Amino acid sequence: MAVKQFKSESKRLLDLMIHSIYTHKEIFLRELISNASDAIDKLYFQSLTDPNVGKTREDFQIRLTVDKAERQITLSDNGVGMTKDELEQNLGVIARSGTLDFRRENAEKLDDLNVIGQFGVGFYSAFMVAAEVSVSSRAYGADEAWRWHSRGAEGYMIEPCEKAEVGTDIVLTVKKDEPDEHYDEFLETRRLAELVRKYSDYIRYPIRMDLEHSRLKEGSESEYETVVETETVNSMVPLWRRNRSEVTEEEYHQFYRDKFYDFTPPLRVIHAANEGLATYHALLFIPKQAPYNYYTKEFEKGLALYSSGVMIMEKCADLLPDHFSFVRGLVDSQDLSLNISREMLQHDRQLKVIAAGLEKRIKNELLKMLREERETYDAFFESFGLQLKAGAYTGFGENRELLQELLLFYSAAQKKRITLAEYVESMKEEQEVIYYAAGAGVAALDRMPQTELVRERGFDILYLTDDVDEFVLRVFGTFADKKFQSVSASGLDLTTEEEKKQAEEQTRTHAEMLRFMKDALDGKVADVTLSGRLKSHPACLTSRGEVSIEMEKVLNAMPTPDKVAAQKVLELNAAHPLFAALDRLHGADSDKLKTVTEILYNQARLVEGLPVEDPAAHAEAVCALLAEGL
Ligand code: ADP
Repeated sequence: MAVKQFKSESKRLLDLMIHSIYTHKEIFLRELISNASDAIDKLYFQSLTDPNVGKTREDFQIRLTVDKAERQITLSDNGVGMTKDELEQNLGVIARSGTLDFRRENAEKLDDLNVIGQFGVGFYSAFMVAAEVSVSSRAYGADEAWRWHSRGAEGYMIEPCEKAEVGTDIVLTVKKDEPDEHYDEFLETRRLAELVRKYSDYIRYPIRMDLEHSRLKEGSESEYETVVETETVNSMVPLWRRNRSEVTEEEYHQFYRDKFYDFTPPLRVIHAANEGLATYHALLFIPKQAPYNYYTKEFEKGLALYSSGVMIMEKCADLLPDHFSFVRGLVDSQDLSLNISREMLQHDRQLKVIAAGLEKRIKNELLKMLREERETYDAFFESFGLQLKAGAYTGFGENRELLQELLLFYSAAQKKRITLAEYVESMKEEQEVIYYAAGAGVAALDRMPQTELVRERGFDILYLTDDVDEFVLRVFGTFADKKFQSVSASGLDLTTEEEKKQAEEQTRTHAEMLRFMKDALDGKVADVTLSGRLKSHPACLTSRGEVSIEMEKVLNAMPTPDKVAAQKVLELNAAHPLFAALDRLHGADSDKLKTVTEILYNQARLVEGLPVEDPAAHAEAVCALLAEGL
C-alpha cells in the first residue's frame, strides 16, 4: 500500500505537533475526547429520527483503555464514524481553506501555542505524545471499515480493516521517555483518569475506564487484593448547568472542596446564568479564609474557563479584578472557542463583557451579605478586607465608587467595625468632619492622648489599624461631603470661642518658654505649642502638612532609600501639673528645662509608636530625674 503525503498545510501543522514545545501536551486527550463526543452527538441526533440507528441515549459511550506493555492508549467511541473518504478528507487534509488562508498569512507572527489555537488542530495534537497513530473507523450506514495509519511526517496510509460496530477506535503508540520529555505518565490509568476529570469532566457521554482498586480480600481482615473495575470517570452534567433550585448546598460545598481543596465551606456561592451580550454560566465562591499564600506574590488569581463544558484554562486572570482576587470558581461560555490561546483571550471582547458582569455580581453579593448577615460579612472582612482596601486605594482611587460601600473601619464609640455610611449617619449635629486616628491597635489608640478629647466631646473616631487605611482615606479625601480629619493633625480645633481666647492669652504669656523649648529640641520639631486637645496627658505630638506621623512610620518601613519625616509639633497641656513645673523651671534652671523638654518629646514619640533616637541617653535622663525625686 502506497504511503500518501499530507497536504502541505497539514504537514506544517504536523511538524509543529511532533516537535511541539507546547508545555501542555496533556491536552491531546481533551482534543480526542471532544472529537469523540462530537461524533456521538451526530449519531445521537440521527437516532432521534432514524430508527435504524438502533441505539438510545444510554448506549453511547467513550472507552479509554491502556496497554502498558505495547505502550498503547486506545480511545473508542460509538459515534457516527468516518468513511474512507472522510478519513482521507478529515485526517489527511485541513480542508477549511477560507480561514486557513488568513491564518497562513499570519502564521509567522504566531508562536506554537497560538498555532494550536488558530488551526483547531484537535486530532493532530495526538502526535505530541504518540509516535504512531491509527484510526479504525466504521461509518454509520457503511458496510466496510477503514483504518487510517500514520507515523507522522512521512505520510499516512488507508487500508480496509475489520470492525463490527459503528464508531471509531483511535490507537496511540506513546513515544518513549526522553531525558527532558516525559511520556510514560500517559500510560498510567490513574493519570489519564485525572486528565479526563480535569479537562473533560462535563462531556455529556460517559467516559469509561478500567481502574484498579485495592480492597480487603473476602473473609480476610488484613490481606488486600487488586481488582479491576470499569468506571465512569467523568461526572457528565456540570453542576453549574443545572438549575439552581436543584442543587443542594451540600453539593455546592462538595464541589468547592474537591475543586479547590479548601475544607472550610465558602461563605457564599454565586451561581449565575447569563444571557444577552454574553452567554455564560458562572459558579463562584467567596471563601471564608484566605489561603496561606494569599497575601504573597505566589498567589495566582483567576477563574477556570470552560467552553461548552470543556476546560480551556485553569486560571484565567482576566476574569477577576485584583480587588476581588479572593473569589474562586469558574465560567463556562459557549461563545469562546475551544482552542483560544492566552494571548488572544486578553483581547477577547466577550471575555471583558463577562468579567465586567461578574465584578458587578460579586459586589452585589458582598453588599447583600453586609446588609443581611453582618457577622458573616465581618468574618469575610477579617480575611479579605485588606485586599478591598488596597483595591480602593490603588490607581488613585479609580475603583473607589465600586468599593467604598464595602469597606469597614473600627469605630471607637461602637467598638466594632462600621461602614463609612454608618459613621456619617451617627454623626452629631454640630460635627462637620469624620475623625480618624491611626495606630497599632485599638487598645493603643484608646490610650492615645489625641483621641481622648475628641471622644469626650461625643464624636466617634475611626480607628485605622492597618497600614493601608490612612492612605485609603487620604485618596478618598471626603465621604458624603464630609472631610476626613486626623485627630493627630496640628490645627485640629475643638475649642470654644471662650477657650480659644484663654489659649491665646496663655500662649502669649508663655511665648518665651515655648520658644526656648523649641530651640532645645534643635530642629526636631517645627513648633512647640499649647494644646486645645489634651485632657489627662501632659503632651503629644501632632503633624503639619501632607505626611502624618502614621504615614512616616508606614513609608519608612518600606525598603526604599528615601526616608520621609512628618513635620512634628509638640503640643503641651497647660492644665497638667507638669506644665506648672515647666513654668517654674523656666528662667530658674534652663539646663533642667532642656532635659525635661527632651524627655517629654521622647515620651510623646514613644506614645506615637516612634523610636527614640538615643534610647540610652533617654533612659539615663529619666533615671537621673527619678533619683532626684525618690
Ligand atoms: P476539528 O475537530 O476542529 O474539526 P480535528 O482535526 O480534531 O478538527 O478533526 C477533524 C475532523 O475529523 C472532525 O471535524 C471530524 O469530522 C473528524 N473526526 C475526528 N475524530 C473523529 C471521531 N472520533 N469520529 C468521527 N469523526 C471524527
